[in-house]
Amino acid sequence: ENEQKKGFFSKALEKTFETIKTVVPQKKEKISFDDIQELLIEADMEYEIIEKAMDGLPDEITRKQLRHRLVMLFEHAPKVDLSNLPKPFVRLIIGVNGAGKTTTIAKLANISKKDGKSVILGAGDTFRAAAIEQLSTWAAKLDVPIIKTKQGHDASAVAFDTISAAIARNIDNVIIDTAGRLQTQTNLNNELKKIVKVCEKAMTGAPHQKLMILDGTQGNTAIAQAKAFNEMVGIDGIIVTKLDGTAKGGALFSISNQLELPIFYVGVGEKQDDLIAFSPDDFVDSLLD
Ligand code: GDP
Repeated sequence: ENEQKKGFFSKALEKTFETIKTVVPQKKEKISFDDIQELLIEADMEYEIIEKAMDGLPDEITRKQLRHRLVMLFEHAPKVDLSNLPKPFVRLIIGVNGAGKTTTIAKLANISKKDGKSVILGAGDTFRAAAIEQLSTWAAKLDVPIIKTKQGHDASAVAFDTISAAIARNIDNVIIDTAGRLQTQTNLNNELKKIVKVCEKAMTGAPHQKLMILDGTQGNTAIAQAKAFNEMVGIDGIIVTKLDGTAKGGALFSISNQLELPIFYVGVGEKQDDLIAFSPDDFVDSLLD
């Protein structure tokens, strides 16, 4: 099963690994510092982080040592006790427009269904009519319930109603969309804070996860955005989208490291099945194999 998962990673991040494989000679047991540096730069990893990864190591190291160092860069890996999730488990999805929020919500709902869990969506981006429509289309396609309101109405009311509906109908998972208009940041800041407060009012402890959706092709811009949102409401974890077709998979190292947050999933396409649970071990194995 592990081999299969690893293979899936390699396939999904084909572009990234393709570039890297031209750099590191296959099957070579010892790798020189120069080779490693080139490998990581090719994967779009920042120099600062390469230095951090290689700190204190000799000029030539084994694959095993390198693997260990790279996995350690994801030390913020999630330690969620999946056997003991609250019901409903409430996730708030945060990020700028275009990052892939709507699509990712659909993918998360799909995973939920595949796991045999019931799920309800909240169309909390009430700023854009298109966002409500788009999420409704996904809900219909996936055959999951959705709570929505008219454009311009109170987003926190949608959040409250979604959680209340989940409690009343005994639903396992709640996924709530939020607005992502960064150009009116003050309003957005207030809106997100209000949503968080109202979630707590609807259910003590909610939202249980505030997940930031980042466009993986955006590099440093994405990291800056995440920092801004983290200051607004505090982010618990990251989902990086659009890693298919980009050679920038190494950006995952920078994202996890600079934000000091776990990466929960990566998006590798536009379809409902194109979301992979992120595993540092599998990712690094694919990189080095
Ligand atoms: P939102 O504005 O944040 O809700 O973003 P959307 O979910 O509407 O996504 C914006 C665009 O990116 C859409 O065309 C999606 O199909 C596309 N998209 C989202 N995730 C991925 C992904 O993982 N891979 C690719 N190739 N496209 C994606």
